[in-house]
Amino acid sequence: MKKIAVFPGSFDPITIGHADIVKRALPLFDEVIIAIGSNSQKQSLYSLEQRIKWIELVFKGEKKVKVESYGGLTVNFCEKKKANYLLRGIRSAADFEYEKTIAHLNHDMLPQLETILILSRLEYSSISSTIVREIIRGKGKVGKFVPKQIAKDFK
Ligand code: ADP
Repeated sequence: MKKIAVFPGSFDPITIGHADIVKRALPLFDEVIIAIGSNSQKQSLYSLEQRIKWIELVFKGEKKVKVESYGGLTVNFCEKKKANYLLRGIRSAADFEYEKTIAHLNHDMLPQLETILILSRLEYSSISSTIVREIIRGKGKVGKFVPKQIAKDFK
């Protein structure tokens, strides 16, 4: 059976932290679907189209990576895609506590779904889309926090 993982998030915008998690997950799976969720509680800074475009640019030529968007529950999207793995990144103990709760609930809703947590690299563990957006709003430079393929869009 094909090993398909869904990596859900807002990716508003994608950072070097997100890209690193995907790259490190690639040897483990046949396909990684980067899935942009439309989270009702979050107002995004960048449009869905723009966020998809950036992710596609970062993983251009990488056949195992797909980019999609979804609404509703992540488990329903995983089921629809026949994905048995849910990929998430962990930067801190706070991330872990949050992911643990979500993973338990997801597993209850879809028992075949296994959550795979990958630890952030030390040097990326303070990088988040939230911080990147704050710097952008303050007119600061974020080029080094986003993948090099899209950095020119943040000059
Ligand atoms: P969400 O809106 O669900 O928090 P994000 O787009 O912020 O989604 O992040 C998606 C996933 O990437 C989450 O699992 C998050 O923990 C992980 N992530 C974000 N930044 C980093 C980073 N710097 N290092 C490792 N994982 C990260």
